[in-house]
Amino acid sequence: MNKLKKKPLFNPEGDTDVRLRRMINGNTTNLNDFNNMRYPWVSDWYRQAMNNFWIPEEINLSADVKDYPRLLPAERTAYDKILSFLVFLDSIQTANLPHIGEYVTANEVNLCLSIQTFQECVHSQSYSYMLDTICSPTQRNAILYQWKDDEHLLRRNTFIGNCYNEFQEHKDPVTLLKVMMANFILEGIYFYSGFMFFYNLSRNGKMPGSAQEIRYINRDENTHLWLFRNIILELQKEEPQLFTLETITELKEMLLEGVRQEIDWGHYCIGNNIPGLTRDMVSDYIHYLGNLRWTSLGYEPLYPEHTAEPESMAWVSQYSNANMVKTDFFEAKSTAYAKSTALVDDL
Ligand code: ZN
Ligand code: ZN
Repeated sequence: MNKLKKKPLFNPEGDTDVRLRRMINGNTTNLNDFNNMRYPWVSDWYRQAMNNFWIPEEINLSADVKDYPRLLPAERTAYDKILSFLVFLDSIQTANLPHIGEYVTANEVNLCLSIQTFQECVHSQSYSYMLDTICSPTQRNAILYQWKDDEHLLRRNTFIGNCYNEFQEHKDPVTLLKVMMANFILEGIYFYSGFMFFYNLSRNGKMPGSAQEIRYINRDENTHLWLFRNIILELQKEEPQLFTLETITELKEMLLEGVRQEIDWGHYCIGNNIPGLTRDMVSDYIHYLGNLRWTSLGYEPLYPEHTAEPESMAWVSQYSNANMVKTDFFEAKSTAYAKSTALVDDL
């Protein structure tokens, strides 16, 4: 139970029978076999992730170039801080996911983790594109490395980095489960006061291109959340001995702490200084998300008074549920990247 096997790169003696495939500690051949999948949700996930392909530079930021210098000082400070945190999140995801993948012995799930890693690269690059377009190289660097001057941001990044580093040092199944939970929290909680800030600017007629970039990112993050939720649910079935009361309590504490930090961060960056948002809107929404995440793993709500989506925040899901909205919010065209299906074979 305390051992965790690193998967071999080539293993001719591995199991080819899907019934023997396991999320961790399996005997994988490592062959990418798309015809034999153990987990039925993987093909849907894979298709969705492929359909979500997008290119940051295809979004027009010319309105944002004009808007950025005209933002209220509080809006610009929040914009910079939030972007700095998002860059960190996508960067650490890019670095951490391949490391997790080394211990996942269901090859089809590794395919998903590789696509996710690629998408996190695209997200990091989209922030660079936004910053290169709207501000000077000096401003850009100050925003990218804001944790050097901002203690709150440094504290948050350190907390998240430490959760991930722990698995670098302790290679056991429970620590892997915890780093997976840390991923689930990152994807399902940490992005959200940032996302709501960008959507709020957009509904106030500001920085529409930035909001559009964020919508594409948000759509990807929804699939990442879906991926980690499913990995954890499969582990509940395959490795029930990992889910002791003690470990479940630890996972719950992690989520409670994540919610607390996200609310603190939202209050720090947004507070009551941004037209259209309040401290209460931030806390109500993040508490609601905390419930949604924990109940989606099969547990009881963490905050019984926040089980319904706050009415004041209904506009956030209008922006973020891009997979359900087939028409683009701004340009009235499909949000799914359609080039692959539009390819004309003229050979
Ligand atoms: Zn991302
Ligand atoms: Zn992600």
